[in-house]
Amino acid sequence: MRALDTNSLILASHNEGKLREIRDLMEPYGFEITSVAERNLPEPSEDGTTFEENAYTKASAAAKATGMVALSDDSGLCVDALGGAPGVYTADWAQNDDGSGRDFAMAMGKVEDMLQKIGATQPDVRKAYFCAVLCLCWPDGHAEYFRGEAHGTLVWPPRGDKGFGYDPVFQPDGQSRTFGEMDAEEKHSWAPGDGDGLSHRARAFAKFAQAMLDKAQ
Ligand code: IMP
Repeated sequence: MRALDTNSLILASHNEGKLREIRDLMEPYGFEITSVAERNLPEPSEDGTTFEENAYTKASAAAKATGMVALSDDSGLCVDALGGAPGVYTADWAQNDDGSGRDFAMAMGKVEDMLQKIGATQPDVRKAYFCAVLCLCWPDGHAEYFRGEAHGTLVWPPRGDKGFGYDPVFQPDGQSRTFGEMDAEEKHSWAPGDGDGLSHRARAFAKFAQAMLDKAQ
C-alpha cells in the first residue's frame, strides 16, 4: 500500500451518520477528518456497477477538489437468491417515488416480497451479506481499497429498532439477534487486524487500520 504521509483526511460523504461513525473509528489513531459537506462540495452521481467503482467516484472527486487524500465508503446489501440485488442500488430501493426521502420499512418489504414470490421462506435460501468498501484516494488518482463483508440470513418480520437501514432484517451468522437488536458498540466493535468484527464496516476498517500499522512499522 502507498504510504499515507498525512493524518488529515477528507471524507467523501454528505452523510452525517457516516462522518460521526468514521470520526469515532479514526480519531483514536490520530486522524483529523473533515467532510466534503463541511466544505460545501457537491456529491458526484454514483453510476458504477460495483461498490469499488462508486467508492472511487466519490473519493477521487473529493481528492481532486481539495488536493487532500480522501476517504469514501460505499456499502449495500446483497441477497443471494436475488442474484446479489439490491447491491449497489441498496439506497435507491429505499427511495420514495415522490423523491421525498428514504423509507427503509418499504425497502425491506420490497426485498421480502421478492423472496416470497420465489418461495424463499426457509433460512438456507435467505442468505445475504452486507458489504462495505473503503476507498482511500490521492489527488493524483492513486487508490487503495479495503473491503469488509458481514454474512447472515434475512429474517421476517423485522426485529429491533437500534440500527439503521436494513439492520432489522439481517441476522449475522452465529448470532440469534439481528443487527437492529444490537447496540452500535456490539455491531461495530473492531480492532486492527481483527477479521472477526461483526459488521462489514468494522471489518473494512480493521483491514485499513492494519495496513496503516504494517506501513508504520
Ligand atoms: P451508500 O453506501 O451511502 O451508497 O448506501 C448504502 C445503503 O446500504 C444505505 O442506504 C443503507 O441503508 C444500507 N446499509 C449499508 N450499511 C448498512 C448497515 O450496516 N446496516 C443497515 N443498512 C446498511
